Amino acid sequence: MRKATIDENKKCPKCGKIENQIKIGYNKSGTQRCKCKEYGISYTINPKKHEYSEETKNLAIKIYYSGVSGRGVGKILGMNKANVYNWIKKEQ
Ligand SMILES: [Zn+2]
Repeated sequence: MRKATIDENKKCPKCGKIENQIKIGYNKSGTQRCKCKEYGISYTINPKKHEYSEETKNLAIKIYYSGVSGRGVGKILGMNKANVYNWIKKEQ
């Protein structure tokens, strides 16, 4: 089934547009490759998985278990609270 919503990961590094981006396959490491119809350049989508370091993650968990809410941790570390909750979930 195809998703009709715009995938924000598909963003042209050249013109910054998320429209007119087409998927052209995967590279050897399994990263999605896309092409901008406007500029005709192809690029790989950066997976957002490893956006934060292990240290940041551990710090977030530590702060969380010291009694701060997930939202609070997100505020302190300047990240989305969803990140924090993801980490907590994985630790349990
Ligand atoms: Zn472009």
